[in-house]
Amino acid sequence: MASNSINSKEKMSFREGVDLMVDRATLAIGLNPDTAKIIQACNAVLQLKFPVRLSNRVEVFTGWWAAHSAHRLPAKGGLRYSMMVNQDEIEALAALMTYKCAIADIPFGGAKGGLMINPSNYTEDELREITRRFTMELARKGFINPAANVPAPDMGTSSREMAWIADTYKTLFPEDLNQNACVTGKPVNRGGIAGRTEATGKGVQYALQEFFRHPDAVENAGMEDGLSNKRVVIQGLGNVGFHSAKFLHEQDKVRITAIIERDGAVINDDGLNVHDVRQYLVETGSLKGFPAAEYHENGAEVLEKECDILIPAALESQIHFGNAMRIQAKLIVEAANGPVTYEANEILLNRNIAILPDIYVNAGGVTVSYFEWTRNLSHMRFGRLQRRYDELRGQNLVAAMEALTQKELPDDVDREISRGASELDLVRSGLDDTMRMAFQDLREIMKTYPHIKDYRTAAYAIAITKIAQSYYDLGLAEPPSN
Ligand code: NAD
Repeated sequence: MASNSINSKEKMSFREGVDLMVDRATLAIGLNPDTAKIIQACNAVLQLKFPVRLSNRVEVFTGWWAAHSAHRLPAKGGLRYSMMVNQDEIEALAALMTYKCAIADIPFGGAKGGLMINPSNYTEDELREITRRFTMELARKGFINPAANVPAPDMGTSSREMAWIADTYKTLFPEDLNQNACVTGKPVNRGGIAGRTEATGKGVQYALQEFFRHPDAVENAGMEDGLSNKRVVIQGLGNVGFHSAKFLHEQDKVRITAIIERDGAVINDDGLNVHDVRQYLVETGSLKGFPAAEYHENGAEVLEKECDILIPAALESQIHFGNAMRIQAKLIVEAANGPVTYEANEILLNRNIAILPDIYVNAGGVTVSYFEWTRNLSHMRFGRLQRRYDELRGQNLVAAMEALTQKELPDDVDREISRGASELDLVRSGLDDTMRMAFQDLREIMKTYPHIKDYRTAAYAIAITKIAQSYYDLGLAEPPSN
């Protein structure tokens, strides 16, 4: 067990908080605590200090790669560029990745990388050089490799950095046939897959849609049926926050009543136009002065605004011991990793506020990364073989129906039936299925163990059950005697 007791109200680190979640699930399902210890241990952590020659100076950078689990390979995780990264955080995030992959049924171990840097202080050329150096250091030590360690975008990185990583890896290992699979989240024309950029946000939308398909879950959270017109507050308008807000606003007609960024928040109870806010943020670098909304300088206070759904999509520990009592949302959807601390989680559960946990909600990114990695290994776009075949079958079906009924099908129905699926259609379908099935698994385990009342414990229970099984299979842990 982790050093702090489960009832501790003391401040604990991110990693200790994650370990305590595992301890809680271990107790709930009666798993052997020794097996839990094996699952919790971080398998390998590499810390690097490396110099980079920039135009007029040399700077030394510090970076990490943590491979939390090797029960499945490769170990997979985001690469974060931020001044706040540290080893404890990277280990915690790597552990979350292990549990996330288990829940989403993805055959990967968990990992995480971090570079201590404020990207906005560097030019694009400098960032490319720094990313190349970091990649070389990691790859030479086996910490970037299609079979063992595969990074993806995270806070402060995007498809641009992933393209630089892939290119550097190819220079180092030109004979590796699977070189494209050394990193995911690449641009589509550089070996990426359609739908990866927005995958995490799309997954957040699918998670919420699935939640709202279960009237008892909605009622227990104190809400009425239907996503439409629900008041949503979102923190962070980066990759995950923007795409979550965009899809929920455009397709599910939720009302985005507040958007919180680093320098404050904009509020409009009638609903904000997410595109306009994002464009304003990109152009001005701030939310201040955005027309048609009230500006609030203290963004953290806006987390406490009354709403139906609160989506923290920025960084960890945003809802903590100090503000958990004042949160007024009915449902918290953890799009970011670790936005609710262990202590806050206890307070919110006692206040009957439902939480969909990070290790389920933001699994969309790694799910589509898995599709991309598989596509890279197969060296072929999904759907390439069957798209025209499906189209032909559809056309034949339409022709047969029209011949039998002596009526013409409406054009839109005809088009829908005789359309072969594109790669994006297949990716979205696979992602939707993953998010639906994972939520149904959470509900199932809550039925098996009726004393598990919250989705986070349920999610950890599923993850540790699956991981324990793979350790039993390898003979690395003692299976239960009965
Ligand atoms: P990002 O860098 O694209 O966006 C983060 C956003 O949060 C930025 O707009 C930033 O200005 C904002 N922000 C930073 N500090 C803030 C603060 N104190 N208050 C309000 N806003 C703040 O990062 P991202 O990729 O969208 O990742 C966001 C979260 O989602 C992280 O926790 C990340 O680990 C998690 N996540 C990302 C992915 C992915 O595919 N990118 C997948 C799974 C989980």
